[in-house]
Amino acid sequence: MNDLLRYSVAALQGIYSERTATVREVVQSYLDAIAGREPRIRAFLRVFSDAALEEAAKLDAKGYDGRPLYGVPIAIKDNLCTRGIPTTCASKILEGYRPPYDATVVERLRSAGAVIIGKTNLDEFAMGSSCENSAFQITRNPWNEAHAPGGSSGGSAAAVAADMALASLGSDTGGSIRQPASLCGVVGLKGTYGRVSRYGLVAFASSLDQIGPFARDVRDCALVMEAIAGHDERDATTIPKPSPDLLGDLEKGFDGLRVAFPSELGNWEMDGSVRDIANGTIEKLKTNSVPVSGVTLPGMETSIATYYILANAEASSNLARYDGVKYGLRSSSKSLADMYDETRGEGFGEEVKRRILLGTYVLSSGYYDAYYAKAQQVKALICAQFEELFKKHDLVLLPTSPTPAFKLGERLEDPIAMYLSDIFTTPANIAGLPAISVPAGLSPEGLPIGMQLVAGWGEEAKLMRGAFGLERIYRFRERFVHGAGSEGGRNAGA
Ligand code: GLN
Repeated sequence: MNDLLRYSVAALQGIYSERTATVREVVQSYLDAIAGREPRIRAFLRVFSDAALEEAAKLDAKGYDGRPLYGVPIAIKDNLCTRGIPTTCASKILEGYRPPYDATVVERLRSAGAVIIGKTNLDEFAMGSSCENSAFQITRNPWNEAHAPGGSSGGSAAAVAADMALASLGSDTGGSIRQPASLCGVVGLKGTYGRVSRYGLVAFASSLDQIGPFARDVRDCALVMEAIAGHDERDATTIPKPSPDLLGDLEKGFDGLRVAFPSELGNWEMDGSVRDIANGTIEKLKTNSVPVSGVTLPGMETSIATYYILANAEASSNLARYDGVKYGLRSSSKSLADMYDETRGEGFGEEVKRRILLGTYVLSSGYYDAYYAKAQQVKALICAQFEELFKKHDLVLLPTSPTPAFKLGERLEDPIAMYLSDIFTTPANIAGLPAISVPAGLSPEGLPIGMQLVAGWGEEAKLMRGAFGLERIYRFRERFVHGAGSEGGRNAGA
């Protein structure tokens, strides 16, 4: 590993302030890493080599200015609008589309000093759990290239896991940040609904979508989150309050926090290695005198069904705008009606079509009350149950994904198996709560496993403290990532 790739976001700031390295050198190291690994991993849909080096030269010319992400190479998911630069959502239907504006998060990254190094692969319109629904390419898991990186933000997770970016942004509607973070052995965070502006995020399910960071460790994740979070008058659903300080109390870890875990853990279907890590974590917290207690987790029976009704209903409405008139692809057809049909027929992939059909169905008269209205009621119930739970506890601990990374192709023929990848992540989306995945250990086959924490509404500061506490317990990077002393991890023997 090139030395310059070793520094965390926090450490890099020290390097720049002491002028030990230039931004150009750091950015070049990441571009070299991309040249080395990207031909196999295929995490990026677009790499901005020239623009990134130019930006780096500008930053070097100005000198270190203390901005929190000064000179940090960051990749962004390709459902985030970038002015004048194609934004594809990994869909053929957006072919040739160049947004006339930047997403708020893109503006905020830039004003924090970050260097945007490329745009990453995803499941088409962020629909999927493996990145295999991209219309363009399959992304491979850097830990084992026969396995999926997870999804839908698989490209962003793989880019960080393979050291091709120091951090990245993804979007999480039902787990699309946390699940790939878990499968790729990196940290992935989704804030409280409304914490990060969705302005310029191509909509999938607007009431659930949230943008958030991937990073190597919890502190870096907090740094990126602080840079992108906060009220935005261009997104009326953003929280009109200052966002919490995520770094100040980070090192307090679990001090004074009460942790709940689902007492049904033993009955749920999951891989044995995931179960062992979950149980091991609970034991470890007890040994460390953290108050832990078993609870009934809201939404475990209902969240997947509720999620797939609400998300697809909203998606069917959001995706109605791709009609061949306003954006991207337009098929040459005889009549206007044919043009709509053919553009959508050619432009959307199978999974997107499945979702539009399901969404249209649950919204149709006659089924609306039975499905959509019912799902809204269940959502209200799940929210109320979480609110009750967080009166007595500060954090909920549970696995992120029921399995480590599955093999590419393994779940493609079985949408239900794919949908069940999100069984542990969707409750936080439905209730709009902040949640994070922290890399915890490896399966016997050497694949990463993440554990998840969920906090109450607006409680990102507690969430990050708990995540930091977990990181101290797992020591994942020291044990499995760094070459020296790693226990059979990614760089062992390298
Ligand atoms: N895997 C889930 C889905 O396919 C979640 C996607 C997401 O969070 N964007 O809907």
